Amino acid sequence: MDGKILIVGFGPGSYEHITVRAREAIQESQVIIGYNTYVDLIRDLLTNQDIVRTGMTEEVSRAQKAVDLATEGKVVAVISSGDAGVYGMAGLVYEVLIERGWRAGDNPLVEVIPGISAINSCAALLGAPIMHDACTISLSDHLTPWAVIEKRIEAAASADFVIALYNPKSGRRTRQIAETQRILLQYRDPKTPVGLVKSAYRDRQHVVRTTLDDMLNHDIGMLTTVVIGNSSTFYYDELMITPRGYQRKYTLDTMEQRLRPGERLKPENEPWSLNATTGECWTPTNPRSSSVQSGMTSPAGPTIRDVAATSDISPREWAAAALNCLNRAEKTSHVSTTLSTMVPSPRPSIFEIAVSPGVANKKFSSVQLVLLANLAGDEGEIEYTTAHQLILRTVTEDPEHIVKCLRDGGMTVLPVGDVIKVKACDFCDGEKHEGIPFAEEISRRLAGIPVEKELRIGFNGCAMSCYGAVNEDIGLVFRKGKFDLFLGGKTTGRNATPGQRVAEGIPAEEMPDLLERIVTHYRENAFPDERFHKFFARVGQIEGFNHRDRPQTVTADAVCGS
Ligand code: SAH
Repeated sequence: MDGKILIVGFGPGSYEHITVRAREAIQESQVIIGYNTYVDLIRDLLTNQDIVRTGMTEEVSRAQKAVDLATEGKVVAVISSGDAGVYGMAGLVYEVLIERGWRAGDNPLVEVIPGISAINSCAALLGAPIMHDACTISLSDHLTPWAVIEKRIEAAASADFVIALYNPKSGRRTRQIAETQRILLQYRDPKTPVGLVKSAYRDRQHVVRTTLDDMLNHDIGMLTTVVIGNSSTFYYDELMITPRGYQRKYTLDTMEQRLRPGERLKPENEPWSLNATTGECWTPTNPRSSSVQSGMTSPAGPTIRDVAATSDISPREWAAAALNCLNRAEKTSHVSTTLSTMVPSPRPSIFEIAVSPGVANKKFSSVQLVLLANLAGDEGEIEYTTAHQLILRTVTEDPEHIVKCLRDGGMTVLPVGDVIKVKACDFCDGEKHEGIPFAEEISRRLAGIPVEKELRIGFNGCAMSCYGAVNEDIGLVFRKGKFDLFLGGKTTGRNATPGQRVAEGIPAEEMPDLLERIVTHYRENAFPDERFHKFFARVGQIEGFNHRDRPQTVTADAVCGS
């Protein structure tokens, strides 16, 4: 009879978190081999299996016993908590088999059945701390030299990994966790969030939210997993959260652009992060909606919504309102550790902003270039782009100051990313200036507004159209006081095409309003990530202008005459 070794990870220790396959495997087996506590944890799933119980440190003999019994033809389940392949029995069983000359596919057959590891179960109880690159480190130096463990802690700390510490401390091993904290403090803010989860999903479950400098003041034991946040991890109410996007890029006035369109903080997508908890914190203005409620200022100070209700929101005001929310949450919170100690101090972030000398002006002065260089500093950079803008990236705690300097220096600043971009020509160096006021008005009204996908409006001041306005998503060609309008250009790709000329001779004073209506229609009705040309083709008509299908491409026979 063929023997079999089923290596079963049964999850954190509650029946609801055992996989169906793990249950089947336990039922299928004739012998269960496991550490005493583990056998007790799955006792109710056992029927008539023989049980081989062992002590904690007898892992090798457990693995040998399993191989012996399976070689005799028995179906043996070797059980591990969490996942059997994470500091569990899986590797050890293979090592014993290999030692005996076994090859993959030989008898006994081996199946490793995955389970929910402590890093996952503990993260779930804490909130969402493992949202970015993370690693596990076991602090047990029973089988690994401490020098190696130390190196790994150092590497993980310096590379800003979220870290789950397994086996952090036992009766005898108390030094390791203190040493780990010391190394981590060399790289991370003392207020970095740290979650301590003991006996996740078991009877004595205990969750503590603390910080790196405070973590040793709490009980940590053999059944604790310690989750250390990265430099972006934060507490929100009782939740420990690591943002999915790594660098927090400020943009001018819309917090939403820090995330890609598909990841935007929409209440329906990510209710934990928005007003689901308190109904008042973290409710950024919907950039599509112009009907922001006002008059909601509470006596306790401005809420995010109050701030958003003003037309000119600066990052500093956002931050102040966020802090205000947190302070209020602190007063009503049941969290044992005070939240104020957990609010990370402001840290420099990468501020990214598009800069140009103006809509019609294409020339930076040398003073402006020096100013840009100074603002970029040693750590920043300046990138030139196809959108008639430079992108300035600089590390700063005070984005508002950067914006002010740029504006004072006579430059136009706009957010980057999926926003409306207005690209105008230079109006023959200002000679053909009749169109300039219209270009400026359109830019003032529309540039920088968030959209599903970057939308470029090209503006040319005469029929030469030498800046290629007709190739943009929306093209405007100013001719003798009137506009020709082009819609749905596909700006890039093998099948790039100019926009369709949908109208000629639109009176100039009507153009800004008309354009605003076209853009509003797109903003309100586009699918996620849908570019303007696709949108135009899908809806078929915008503001009375009909979409026409393009002629089919003919595939030419490449070799002449054959
Ligand atoms: N195979 C297991 C890990 C075994 S090492 C897994 O994948 O989860 C033992 C360590 O795992 C413990 O010291 C503790 O750090 C962690 N651990 C296991 N179960 C846990 C639980 N229910 N709650 C918290 N930590 C747990």
